[in-house]
This record gives sequence, C-alpha cells and structure tokens, in this order.
Amino acid sequence: MKLSQLGEFGLISRIQRTTPKGRDVLLGIGDDAAWVRNRTGSCLITADLLLEGVHFQRRWTSLYDLGHKSLAVNLSDIAAMGGVPAYATVSLGVPSNLPVSDIDAFYRGIRALASKTGVALVGGDLNAADSLLISVCVFGHAPYRPISRSGARVGDEIYVTGTLGDSALALELLMRARPLKRDRAVAYLLSRHHLPTPRLTVGALLAKEKLAKAMIDVSDGLLQDLGHLCEASGVGAVIREESLPLSPAYRSLAARNGTRYALSGGEDYELLFCVRRKDRSRLERIKHHLDVPLTLIGQCVDSGGGVQVLDAKDRPIRMSAKGHDHFKDDGFVARA
Ligand SMILES: [Mg+2]
Repeated sequence: MKLSQLGEFGLISRIQRTTPKGRDVLLGIGDDAAWVRNRTGSCLITADLLLEGVHFQRRWTSLYDLGHKSLAVNLSDIAAMGGVPAYATVSLGVPSNLPVSDIDAFYRGIRALASKTGVALVGGDLNAADSLLISVCVFGHAPYRPISRSGARVGDEIYVTGTLGDSALALELLMRARPLKRDRAVAYLLSRHHLPTPRLTVGALLAKEKLAKAMIDVSDGLLQDLGHLCEASGVGAVIREESLPLSPAYRSLAARNGTRYALSGGEDYELLFCVRRKDRSRLERIKHHLDVPLTLIGQCVDSGGGVQVLDAKDRPIRMSAKGHDHFKDDGFVARA
C-alpha cells in the first residue's frame, strides 16, 4: 500500500496499533498529547514537525513569527488536554546559507511566547539541512485530570473558542499572486495565521472545573478535528452553520467562500470541546471570566450520522473535503 492511500491518520493508527503502550503511559499515541506517570506525579508530552514548503513559506513568513508559531502549535496541544506547559526542546535543520540574524529572530519569537506562557527552553539539536525543518517538543504539567478526545456522549453540547477560518483565509490571501491590500481586516487575518494564540487559560479552566468531557484543538479544520473527537468518543455530531463564530475580518473578506474556511480550513488553534447539557449554566457562568469567547455550535448525536452541518433551514450541507491530511492528495486546503 502506498502512503497516499493510507493517509496521515491511517499511518498514525497503524503506528499506534503496533506500538506497545509502555509502562507508566496513561494515554499514549493518538490524542493531542501523551500523558505519562512519573515518580512525582504525571506529565503531558507533545511534539510537532514544521517543514518549509509544507507548513510554511519563508517568502511570506518572518522568522520571528515562525518561532512564535512553532511553539504555539505545541502549546495548543497542551491546552487541548487542559494542561500547563513547562519545558520545550527545539530542534532545527537549517540551510547553511540562512543568515544568523534570521536564526536570532526565530529564537526571539520562541522566547517571547515562552516567557509569556511560563515555558523554559531546555534543549534541542541543530543540523544542516536543504530546507528549514523545525521540530518542537513540549512537556507540561497535568494539575487536573487531562481531557482526552474520547469522553463525549450523545446529547453533549459542542463548543469552540474564538473564531474559525481566519488563518486559512489569510493563507488563501497570501497565495493569491497579486499584492495584498494591507488594511486592518487583512492585518488581523495575517496575525491570526502567523501568531496563533494557544488557549491555555481556557483549556486549564475547563479541566479544573471538569466541564469539558472531550477536547481537541482545531489544527486541521473544524470538520476533520471534530471527526477525530467523534471517532474517539463513538458519537456523531450535528453542527449549525449559522452558529459558527466568524470574525468581522473573516465576514468582510471571505466573500463567496462563505463558511468554507471556518468548516474546513486549518490552523485555527482554537479549542473544540464537549460539555454535558446539565453543565450549560455552569459554563455560562465562567464564560464571563475568560479572555476569549466560547460559542455553542452543535450537539453530539448517535454515531450513525457522522459529522453533519445544517444550514439555517436545517438542510444538510454537502462538504467536498473534510480538511487536511499530510499524505492524502484529496484535501483541498493547501498548507503551503
Ligand atoms: Mg492537536
């Protein structure tokens, strides 16, 4: 079988099936982060690989932003478990002609977000490479029981933080050949693409209050990541298109694409989580203390229906592709 037939997620589950769980591993391969026991308690571990030409293009990304984003995407996975990040290692494959000032800017971006989030950069590795390769690993504390993807039940309400689609729309604007009009809306979308905010406070609070029963961060597009959560939990989901949280910038620039990027775009790094219906009023009460809005977008249903999106007249919307898979070639979201 070719990798393009198996796909990224098929490959992950293949590795998962053939890898022993290991001693002291509470939650292994297949969630946002692993959860392991150590002598004094337990911790969370997550890693991400960013490749030039696949995940980023140096022609429209500053090295400072790239440093920020490389750490942010890992912190987002810790947030999705309800954890508190603590240590990071950063390993780079670097083209030998890259100016040292670019490397300095990269680490400035890393350090700025690390100091904001209380993360210590504790090591890594460097090597020469043909194109820039960034591998970040983050270790986090689990002061509250981590929230896996598998705890959702039929009847749970589905929430998302922040707004969806901004990052993918920004990427679409960057990929258009003509020069970008740099107005406020465009600047906002670009900052969402280059400088995503990991939702650490919300994630930890949802774990502390035991409000989220299943959680995932939206990195590959809402439908795809919701699909992962539903699959892990053995439920289906119904999403209401008109309830999707869209930023004013998105609304003004998405034009005929409508909610397409909000549903299937990638790199939002918002949190998607499920709450028992009886806990709705408790969630409503903590909402006001948060620095980011929470939006109710749908409900968990019986697993038979998969993930469905309904328009304002309750008609199902047909989706051509669900999101991004690094090995399959049918995903329409280009992650250049
Ligand atoms: Mg994730």
